[in-house]
Amino acid sequence: MTIVDLRSDTVTQPNQEMREAMMNAAVGDDVYGEDPTVNELQDMAAKTMGKEAGLFVPSGTMGNLAAMLVHCQRGDEVILGNKAHTFLFEAGGISALGGIHSLQLSNQADGSLLLDDIKHSIRGDDPHEPITKLIALENTHNRCGGTYQTPEYVNSVCSFAHEKGLIVHMDGARIFNAAIANNVPVKKITENVDSVTFCLSKGLCAPAGSVLCGNNEFIRKANRIRKQLGGGMRQVGILAAAGKVSLEKMTDRLVEDHIHAMKLAEALVKIPGIILNYGEPKTNMVFIQFSDEIPFTTEEFTQELSKLGIRIGIVGDRQYRMVTHYWIKDEDISLTIEGFQFLINKQHK
Ligand SMILES: *Cc1c(COP(=O)(O)O)cnc(C)c1O
Repeated sequence: MTIVDLRSDTVTQPNQEMREAMMNAAVGDDVYGEDPTVNELQDMAAKTMGKEAGLFVPSGTMGNLAAMLVHCQRGDEVILGNKAHTFLFEAGGISALGGIHSLQLSNQADGSLLLDDIKHSIRGDDPHEPITKLIALENTHNRCGGTYQTPEYVNSVCSFAHEKGLIVHMDGARIFNAAIANNVPVKKITENVDSVTFCLSKGLCAPAGSVLCGNNEFIRKANRIRKQLGGGMRQVGILAAAGKVSLEKMTDRLVEDHIHAMKLAEALVKIPGIILNYGEPKTNMVFIQFSDEIPFTTEEFTQELSKLGIRIGIVGDRQYRMVTHYWIKDEDISLTIEGFQFLINKQHK
């Protein structure tokens, strides 16, 4: 049976070209800074993001955490969104490990934070209050539906922050999806943020790894934090080799994932009882909700669907997420649509 795995783009496996690059990778001890393939990847990533330097890290979570630990001391405050991945899904690392206080603003529909809200959140010089240090953005925005923010918006936050002496970090786990959706080189989105993390292991298909980018001084400090967190990885050029293929070959094709997400959404919304939670998909994610018209319980439905070889994510009561990626082809989208139609029509009879 064909398995169509739409739970996340993290399920992507390396393709043949990546596996060959991994097998042939020149390696060295990266904790000594001597892994040539890691060094090449870090340089490529930095250039692509418009930054001086990059640091290969095991995960996006460690990239975000290392960045915030460099930017903030204990008792400092980060302004972030109430649906931010860093706030919801990184095990509270910034407060557990960094003593960093978070101030959560409502994410807008596109995943942005209102500049006015940010302005009103800056703390005064008052010993009762934490010290505002950092603003963290997320682009594309996962829990806002895979939505994206424009370079103009990001630049407006950066200008304001820098005027106030504040720092901007971007969780750009899927920043290349945002670049494709904005139809700009990724640098246009990231050039003014102080630091950015992006994932090689999601739509870009590498087996693991993220790159944190920023200026030389920042990366020098982040390297020490990575060591503190246990993220110094030795002959990790094996993984970086796949990451280089990600940057060279996997970014432009993301547009196909966006087209597939749109196709899937357009068909599903025609099934009575299915609602698109965040409107039309903006990148590679489709979020749907079942009305009471569809009698399946949340888990029943995913179980029935998985018997047909189709796997989707549960994100709430009668709410599901589907993420398109490299290994999802036209026929997989058709199979998924047919699976939904089959199960829901059967129930209606
Ligand atoms: C996946 C993700 C991360 C973290 O990535 P991991 O590599 O799984 O640690 C961070 N931010 C966002 C928005 C993500 O989707």
